[in-house]
Amino acid sequence: MQYDHILIRYGEMALKGKNIKQFIIRLQENIQQKVKEFPNVKVKRTQGRMFVLLNGHDPEPIMDKLQKVFGIHSLSLAIKVENDLEKIKEAALYALNNTEDVHKFKVTVKRINKDFPVRAMEMNQILGGHLLKNTKDILVDVHHPDLAIKVEIRLEATYITSNVVPGLGGLPVGTSGKSLLLLSGGIDSPVAGYLSMKRGVQLEAIHFHSPPFTSERAKQKVLDLTKQLTKYGKSIKVHIVPFTKLQQEIFREMPDDYAMTIMRRMMFRISERVCENESILSLATGENLGQVASQTMDSMHTINEVTNYPIIRPLVTMDKQEVIHISQEIGTYETSILPYEDCCTIFVPKSPKTKPKRGKVNYYESTYDFSASIEEAIKGIETIKVNDQKEVEDSFTDLF
Ligand code: ATP
Ligand code: MG
Repeated sequence: MQYDHILIRYGEMALKGKNIKQFIIRLQENIQQKVKEFPNVKVKRTQGRMFVLLNGHDPEPIMDKLQKVFGIHSLSLAIKVENDLEKIKEAALYALNNTEDVHKFKVTVKRINKDFPVRAMEMNQILGGHLLKNTKDILVDVHHPDLAIKVEIRLEATYITSNVVPGLGGLPVGTSGKSLLLLSGGIDSPVAGYLSMKRGVQLEAIHFHSPPFTSERAKQKVLDLTKQLTKYGKSIKVHIVPFTKLQQEIFREMPDDYAMTIMRRMMFRISERVCENESILSLATGENLGQVASQTMDSMHTINEVTNYPIIRPLVTMDKQEVIHISQEIGTYETSILPYEDCCTIFVPKSPKTKPKRGKVNYYESTYDFSASIEEAIKGIETIKVNDQKEVEDSFTDLF
């Protein structure tokens, strides 16, 4: 006897009315994608639930993968047996013996199949008695058990499940359209990407790169962050924009205190062009109200003027500590704090305006023609597809 299934519960999606079917199909596809590397492991749907059939596979690495799939509310290891009292007893004992550190347990039986001859109450007693008799130093505790064994007697079979492991919740990636994430090498934007994915958004990413002022390592850092994000969804296309020339022009031609604002506006303009090419309908950023000069209300108002695309800003109201906490949880923090500078940390004006105005910025921009450099930057975009299977190609190894 062994655990042969993982039971998957999908909470929030049950509320989605008409779209439910589409959501479930997407969730199944996303799960299938994640377990593809394990031969013979299958994903099956039944009413209101999903099962992963392990076919002899060790459940642990598969549970790890599933705990990073959005749309899963919770998971449990399960054993499927015939509707036979002796088999059910044996499976319940297996579940108890194969969970570590159990001192107190409880059994809950649900009899959905009314043809099964023993009633739920009586089954509880029979199974409880069987487990007590065949173990040592273990008690029944219905209020605070270390292990809650659930027995569901269904029409086709009986499922015995052990503890409920929480999933990430959210919605399956791909059910809420696509967004282009402005991804720097910092702490915030990867977290913004993760939280967008949690709402079902599929990502592409754009990064503005300014060699030789920013190194190949800074670019690699962005690819590494992207790779970490793909663990929570599908492969992600990263568009690397050569930004040096445009950025130098901005800092040469525009008043120092408005250069930062204008640089941000250029980022949005170029991002919008990428969206048009890729049929993407929104942008996502790690902007956070009041953190730095570019993120005041005035600044957002002035920068936002150049695009009417919706901008997803999941961090806008968060405290820095909350953001850092999430980045640690999702595994991007260690990469984010590596010291390689991104383009915004290099071209920092001495005193950026904290309250830039639309009127002024439009006037300054009208005094110089940036269009050729914008087109050149767009033409020079390098697109790299990153997935969670193979290592991202290390494009700077020959520098050492
Ligand atoms: P982060 O931690 O994400 O770098 P931040 O707190 O440093 O954010 P800013 O430098 O003001 O804040 O950047 C705000 C947002 O603009 C970032 O979260 C990111 O979405 C976008 N951004 C900044 N620099 C770049 C870049 N070089 N390439 C792509 N997007 C960028
Ligand atoms: Mg930054």
